[in-house]
Amino acid sequence: MGVKRTFDIGEVIRRVRRAVRPYPKAALFELTGEGFSSPFEQLAACIISIRTTDEATLPTARRLFEHARTPLEVSRLTPARIDELIGTCSFHERKARQIHELARRVVEEFGGELPCDFETLVSFTGVGPKCANLVLGIACGEPRVGVDIHVHRVTNRWGYVQTKTPEQTTEMLAEKLPRRYWVEINRLLVPFGKHVCTGRLPHCSTCPVLEFCRQVGVRAHR
Ligand code: SF4
Repeated sequence: MGVKRTFDIGEVIRRVRRAVRPYPKAALFELTGEGFSSPFEQLAACIISIRTTDEATLPTARRLFEHARTPLEVSRLTPARIDELIGTCSFHERKARQIHELARRVVEEFGGELPCDFETLVSFTGVGPKCANLVLGIACGEPRVGVDIHVHRVTNRWGYVQTKTPEQTTEMLAEKLPRRYWVEINRLLVPFGKHVCTGRLPHCSTCPVLEFCRQVGVRAHR
Protein backbone atom coordinates (compact mmCIF):
# COMPACT_ATOMS: atom_id res chain seq x y z
CA MET A 1 0.00 0.00 0.00
CA GLY A 2 2.98 2.33 0.49
CA VAL A 3 3.31 5.12 3.07
CA LYS A 4 0.08 7.00 3.66
CA ARG A 5 -0.19 10.69 4.44
CA THR A 6 -2.70 12.21 6.83
CA PHE A 7 -5.89 12.73 4.86
CA ASP A 8 -6.05 16.32 3.63
CA ILE A 9 -9.43 16.92 2.01
CA GLY A 10 -8.36 20.23 0.41
CA GLU A 11 -5.38 18.63 -1.31
CA VAL A 12 -7.42 15.57 -2.32
CA ILE A 13 -10.10 17.79 -3.88
CA ARG A 14 -7.44 19.79 -5.77
CA ARG A 15 -5.95 16.60 -7.19
CA VAL A 16 -9.33 15.15 -8.12
CA ARG A 17 -10.25 18.43 -9.90
CA ARG A 18 -7.20 17.99 -12.11
CA ALA A 19 -7.84 14.28 -12.64
CA VAL A 20 -11.42 14.71 -13.93
CA ARG A 21 -10.69 17.59 -16.31
CA PRO A 22 -10.55 15.36 -19.41
CA TYR A 23 -13.84 13.59 -18.66
CA PRO A 24 -17.42 14.61 -19.42
CA LYS A 25 -19.34 16.29 -16.61
CA ALA A 26 -22.04 14.43 -14.69
CA ALA A 27 -25.39 14.73 -16.47
CA LEU A 28 -27.09 17.32 -14.25
CA PHE A 29 -24.04 19.62 -14.30
CA GLU A 30 -23.79 19.23 -18.07
CA LEU A 31 -27.49 20.13 -18.48
CA THR A 32 -27.05 23.15 -16.21
CA GLY A 33 -24.24 24.33 -18.47
CA GLU A 34 -26.62 24.03 -21.43
CA GLY A 35 -29.17 26.29 -19.71
CA PHE A 36 -31.48 23.60 -18.32
CA SER A 37 -30.89 24.93 -14.85
CA SER A 38 -34.30 25.52 -13.27
CA PRO A 39 -35.24 23.39 -10.25
CA PHE A 40 -37.99 21.76 -12.34
CA GLU A 41 -35.69 20.89 -15.24
CA GLN A 42 -33.06 19.56 -12.86
CA LEU A 43 -35.58 17.45 -10.97
CA ALA A 44 -37.14 16.03 -14.15
CA ALA A 45 -33.63 15.24 -15.44
CA CYS A 46 -32.72 13.59 -12.15
CA ILE A 47 -35.80 11.35 -12.37
CA ILE A 48 -34.73 10.42 -15.91
CA SER A 49 -31.20 9.67 -14.67
CA ILE A 50 -32.22 7.06 -12.10
CA ARG A 51 -30.72 3.69 -13.09
CA THR A 52 -29.78 5.23 -16.43
CA THR A 53 -26.30 6.08 -17.69
CA ASP A 54 -25.32 9.70 -18.27
CA GLU A 55 -24.86 8.81 -21.94
CA ALA A 56 -28.58 7.95 -22.15
CA THR A 57 -29.79 10.58 -19.68
CA LEU A 58 -28.43 13.56 -21.60
CA PRO A 59 -30.13 13.06 -25.00
CA THR A 60 -33.32 11.88 -23.27
CA ALA A 61 -33.58 15.00 -21.11
CA ARG A 62 -32.71 17.26 -24.05
CA ARG A 63 -35.47 15.65 -26.16
CA LEU A 64 -38.07 16.24 -23.44
CA PHE A 65 -36.96 19.86 -22.94
CA GLU A 66 -37.05 20.55 -26.69
CA HIS A 67 -40.78 19.91 -26.48
CA ALA A 68 -41.58 21.15 -22.98
CA ARG A 69 -39.43 22.85 -20.35
CA THR A 70 -41.75 24.40 -17.80
CA PRO A 71 -44.16 22.63 -15.44
CA LEU A 72 -47.08 24.13 -17.37
CA GLU A 73 -45.76 22.90 -20.72
CA VAL A 74 -45.00 19.43 -19.38
CA SER A 75 -48.37 19.18 -17.62
CA ARG A 76 -50.07 19.78 -20.97
CA LEU A 77 -48.42 16.68 -22.45
CA THR A 78 -50.04 13.32 -21.79
CA PRO A 79 -48.04 10.70 -19.87
CA ALA A 80 -48.05 8.66 -23.10
CA ARG A 81 -46.48 11.54 -25.03
CA ILE A 82 -43.85 12.05 -22.31
CA ASP A 83 -43.17 8.31 -22.48
CA GLU A 84 -42.52 8.62 -26.23
CA LEU A 85 -40.09 11.48 -25.63
CA ILE A 86 -38.14 9.80 -22.82
CA GLY A 87 -38.35 6.26 -24.18
CA THR A 88 -34.55 6.00 -24.32
CA CYS A 89 -34.14 5.84 -20.52
CA SER A 90 -34.83 2.85 -18.30
CA PHE A 91 -38.24 2.53 -16.60
CA HIS A 92 -39.49 5.24 -18.98
CA GLU A 93 -43.15 4.39 -18.59
CA ARG A 94 -43.07 4.81 -14.83
CA LYS A 95 -40.86 7.89 -15.08
CA ALA A 96 -43.22 9.46 -17.65
CA ARG A 97 -46.09 9.14 -15.16
CA GLN A 98 -43.91 10.56 -12.37
CA ILE A 99 -42.76 13.54 -14.47
CA HIS A 100 -46.32 14.27 -15.55
CA GLU A 101 -47.55 14.09 -11.96
CA LEU A 102 -44.66 16.31 -10.85
CA ALA A 103 -45.55 18.95 -13.46
CA ARG A 104 -49.27 18.78 -12.67
CA ARG A 105 -48.72 19.21 -8.92
CA VAL A 106 -46.26 22.07 -9.43
CA VAL A 107 -48.87 23.88 -11.53
CA GLU A 108 -51.81 23.15 -9.22
CA GLU A 109 -50.18 23.40 -5.81
CA PHE A 110 -47.27 25.77 -6.31
CA GLY A 111 -48.38 28.21 -9.01
CA GLY A 112 -46.08 26.71 -11.64
CA GLU A 113 -42.81 27.23 -9.71
CA LEU A 114 -41.11 24.27 -8.06
CA PRO A 115 -40.09 25.46 -4.58
CA CYS A 116 -36.54 24.96 -3.31
CA ASP A 117 -37.67 22.96 -0.31
CA PHE A 118 -36.40 19.51 0.62
CA GLU A 119 -39.67 18.20 2.09
CA THR A 120 -41.61 19.34 -0.97
CA LEU A 121 -39.11 17.77 -3.37
CA VAL A 122 -39.14 14.36 -1.68
CA SER A 123 -42.95 14.43 -1.58
CA PHE A 124 -43.02 13.74 -5.33
CA THR A 125 -43.22 10.10 -6.37
CA GLY A 126 -39.87 8.83 -7.61
CA VAL A 127 -37.85 11.59 -5.89
CA GLY A 128 -35.48 10.48 -3.12
CA PRO A 129 -32.96 12.40 -1.02
CA LYS A 130 -30.27 12.09 -3.71
CA CYS A 131 -32.26 13.97 -6.37
CA ALA A 132 -33.64 16.44 -3.82
CA ASN A 133 -30.15 17.32 -2.61
CA LEU A 134 -28.76 17.58 -6.13
CA VAL A 135 -31.55 19.95 -7.16
CA LEU A 136 -31.13 22.08 -4.03
CA GLY A 137 -27.36 22.17 -4.52
CA ILE A 138 -27.22 22.75 -8.27
CA ALA A 139 -30.40 24.65 -9.14
CA CYS A 140 -31.19 26.40 -5.86
CA GLY A 141 -27.64 27.33 -4.86
CA GLU A 142 -28.06 25.80 -1.40
CA PRO A 143 -25.13 24.06 0.22
CA ARG A 144 -26.17 20.41 -0.09
CA VAL A 145 -24.22 17.19 -0.35
CA GLY A 146 -25.43 15.19 -3.34
CA VAL A 147 -24.47 11.57 -2.68
CA ASP A 148 -24.86 8.96 -5.36
CA ILE A 149 -23.24 5.55 -5.57
CA HIS A 150 -19.92 7.02 -6.78
CA VAL A 151 -19.65 9.57 -3.96
CA HIS A 152 -20.61 6.84 -1.49
CA ARG A 153 -18.05 4.33 -2.81
CA VAL A 154 -15.11 6.71 -3.24
CA THR A 155 -15.41 8.52 0.10
CA ASN A 156 -15.63 5.14 1.86
CA ARG A 157 -12.56 3.84 0.04
CA TRP A 158 -10.67 6.97 1.03
CA GLY A 159 -11.57 6.13 4.62
CA TYR A 160 -13.03 9.65 4.89
CA VAL A 161 -16.41 8.17 5.89
CA GLN A 162 -17.29 4.73 7.21
CA THR A 163 -20.87 4.06 6.18
CA LYS A 164 -23.11 1.35 4.77
CA THR A 165 -25.59 3.39 2.70
CA PRO A 166 -25.58 6.58 0.59
CA GLU A 167 -28.01 8.07 3.14
CA GLN A 168 -25.50 7.57 5.95
CA THR A 169 -22.77 9.00 3.72
CA THR A 170 -24.89 12.12 3.16
CA GLU A 171 -25.18 12.59 6.92
CA MET A 172 -21.52 11.96 7.62
CA LEU A 173 -20.32 14.25 4.82
CA ALA A 174 -22.67 16.97 6.07
CA GLU A 175 -20.88 16.67 9.43
CA LYS A 176 -17.27 16.64 8.32
CA LEU A 177 -16.89 17.88 4.73
CA PRO A 178 -16.23 21.66 4.56
CA ARG A 179 -19.31 23.39 3.14
CA ARG A 180 -17.46 24.86 0.19
CA TYR A 181 -17.13 21.33 -1.26
CA TRP A 182 -20.70 20.16 -0.66
CA VAL A 183 -21.99 20.68 -4.20
CA GLU A 184 -18.65 20.17 -5.89
CA ILE A 185 -18.05 16.73 -4.35
CA ASN A 186 -20.74 15.22 -6.57
CA ARG A 187 -19.53 17.04 -9.67
CA LEU A 188 -16.01 15.68 -9.04
CA LEU A 189 -16.63 12.17 -7.78
CA VAL A 190 -19.09 11.06 -10.45
CA PRO A 191 -16.47 11.24 -13.25
CA PHE A 192 -13.71 10.22 -10.81
CA GLY A 193 -15.73 7.14 -9.80
CA LYS A 194 -16.45 6.26 -13.41
CA HIS A 195 -12.93 6.60 -14.75
CA VAL A 196 -10.41 6.32 -11.89
CA CYS A 197 -11.90 4.86 -8.72
CA THR A 198 -14.08 2.43 -10.64
CA GLY A 199 -16.40 -0.07 -8.97
CA ARG A 200 -14.31 -3.05 -10.08
CA LEU A 201 -10.52 -2.88 -10.32
CA PRO A 202 -9.96 0.79 -9.45
CA HIS A 203 -6.90 2.43 -11.05
CA CYS A 204 -4.98 2.77 -7.78
CA SER A 205 -1.49 2.47 -9.21
CA THR A 206 -1.94 5.67 -11.24
CA CYS A 207 -4.41 7.40 -8.90
CA PRO A 208 -3.42 10.96 -7.92
CA VAL A 209 -4.72 10.55 -4.36
CA LEU A 210 -3.17 7.13 -3.62
CA GLU A 211 -0.91 8.49 -0.89
CA PHE A 212 -3.94 9.81 1.05
CA CYS A 213 -6.35 6.94 0.34
CA ARG A 214 -6.83 4.06 2.81
CA GLN A 215 -8.19 1.89 -0.06
CA VAL A 216 -10.84 0.49 2.29
CA GLY A 217 -12.37 -2.68 0.87
CA VAL A 218 -10.15 -2.66 -2.25
CA ARG A 219 -8.96 -6.22 -2.75
CA ALA A 220 -7.74 -6.00 -6.33
CA HIS A 221 -6.83 -2.98 -8.38
CA ARG A 222 -5.02 -1.86 -11.49
S1 SF4 B 1 -8.44 4.53 -7.21
FE1 SF4 B 1 -7.59 3.47 -5.46
S2 SF4 B 1 -6.20 4.94 -4.54
FE2 SF4 B 1 -7.56 6.09 -5.90
S3 SF4 B 1 -9.25 6.78 -4.63
FE3 SF4 B 1 -9.86 4.82 -5.48
S4 SF4 B 1 -9.28 3.27 -4.00
FE4 SF4 B 1 -8.20 5.16 -3.51
